[in-house]
Amino acid sequence: MRIAIYPGSFDPITNGHLEIIERASKIFDKIIILIAINNEKKYFFTIEDRIKMIKESIKHLNNVCVDYYEGLTMHYAQKVNATALIRGLRVVSDFDYEWKLATANEYIDPNIEMVFFMAHKEVSFISSSMINELYSGNVDISKLVPNIVIEMYKKKAK
Ligand code: ADP
Repeated sequence: MRIAIYPGSFDPITNGHLEIIERASKIFDKIIILIAINNEKKYFFTIEDRIKMIKESIKHLNNVCVDYYEGLTMHYAQKVNATALIRGLRVVSDFDYEWKLATANEYIDPNIEMVFFMAHKEVSFISSSMINELYSGNVDISKLVPNIVIEMYKKKAK
């Protein structure tokens, strides 16, 4: 069984993430979306909220699930016998960071392959931080994120 991990912050999940998940779910037997917890980082949504938004957004995909992990993603990947780690590439500036990350991951375990998906142009400008900014600025983000994300923003504002 070819298991792939898709790690990230997903703060919140966007249509950009979802597009990659949908494409990857056709290639791998199972995808685990992994909320990677970094205690140094400040997040907008709690882990519980992020899990809820992801679960609701992937309901239509029967080989995709979500989990969270505090520690190195590669160690989680080894624990579940993953074949690959998925990452998305949007713009050239993503490459530098992803290259360093991929090199470090290869150092940890060369048997787990990094697989990169090029973002489709319609969603390539979307990042979670930009979504947070647009929402804070009262911009309509309904075309950029799943509906549940908008519901959760509204709930948080109450
Ligand atoms: P991280 O903090 O690890 O970058 P993110 O949740 O921001 O976590 O992103 C997780 C992965 O998804 C990264 O590989 C990132 O490049 C990719 N990604 C984020 N937004 C998009 C998008 N709009 N299109 C394609 N890939 C994306």
